[in-house]
Amino acid sequence: MKAIRVKEFGGPEVMRLEEIPTPKPGPAEVLVKVKAVGVNPVDTYIRSGAYANKPPLPYTPGADAAGTVEAVGSEVKGLKPGARVYCAGSLTGTYAEYALCKISQVHPIPEHITFSQGAAVNVAYATAYRALVQRAQAKAGEILLVHGASGGVGIAAVQWGRSLGLCVIGTASTEKGLKLVMDQGAHYACNHSKPGYLDEIKTITGGKGVDIVLEMLANVNLHNDLTILARDGHVVVIGSRGKIEIDPRLTMAVDGNIHGMSLMTVNETDLYSIHCAIVAGLQTKSLNPVVGKEIPLANASQAHADVMAAGAHGKIVLIP
Ligand code: NAP
Repeated sequence: MKAIRVKEFGGPEVMRLEEIPTPKPGPAEVLVKVKAVGVNPVDTYIRSGAYANKPPLPYTPGADAAGTVEAVGSEVKGLKPGARVYCAGSLTGTYAEYALCKISQVHPIPEHITFSQGAAVNVAYATAYRALVQRAQAKAGEILLVHGASGGVGIAAVQWGRSLGLCVIGTASTEKGLKLVMDQGAHYACNHSKPGYLDEIKTITGGKGVDIVLEMLANVNLHNDLTILARDGHVVVIGSRGKIEIDPRLTMAVDGNIHGMSLMTVNETDLYSIHCAIVAGLQTKSLNPVVGKEIPLANASQAHADVMAAGAHGKIVLIP
């Protein structure tokens, strides 16, 4: 099969398309024929060598994909060749024509969801659900700020927020991104590159502040988030690319809570719950992944440059 291989950590150019043996499923494993691959910012951190948990070299990148079941091991029940699935991680990497998965990493996608949409599911929707439901314990009627709503996790968070009955404010930096955020069901969209947008958000809340902030760039925004937090409010740090100075006193005034989260450290029970919620949301159509760009697998280096550029618009997907 063809697969992207990384033999040394470095820039996007270290990713090369190569021919390698197609894996065979063990007793409790599933081989997925990959039709689309989801690209995440973390794939670039790992490839560059900057990420704490580095895979041994050489490796095939990627945690997200969608496709059809090609073959199953002898102990796998209830999953037949041809079934349409999304992958939530894999044993062999997803930037490839086939991905070998544990049975717990494979979940069904309904007919109305395309494979590219399926590839956009795992990291984005699991992260947004983890942050909103399991960390911030969102309740219907609360006000949610998705700080960075036009990308993969942000769009998922907007859709989760609406499906759970929250009032949703989303931010983006371009007109196209702001329109996308509104089209996904946000009640309000604000431009995080314009001075004064925090005042605009405070005004939207009637001066009360937001109950939950899902933060995509904490090294830029964490201090400001604390200035617009409602009493007993929660900030969940999803993304951060550096350090920031905050005034801790701002948390004292509102009994505020700052939570960290990493999808990599979620336990099996919580992960099972997350994917049950995602599968139900896809089936009932409350979740509808947005694919902004499809790129051939051979051009994975282009996808890595694009996912780190400003002006996000949904997910970037690779097609083998
Ligand atoms: P993405 O698709 O590239 O989207 C990035 C989002 O951040 C866009 O909406 C972008 O909007 C926005 N943004 C850029 N500058 C911003 C600013 N100054 N203030 C607020 N928002 C800003 O990335 P993603 O997949 O959604 O991931 C978002 C972040 O979460 C990344 O840093 C990623 O590494 C991290 N993440 C963490 C976990 C975890 O387990 N903790 C899991 C998944 C992702 P514009 O482009 O319009 O500016």
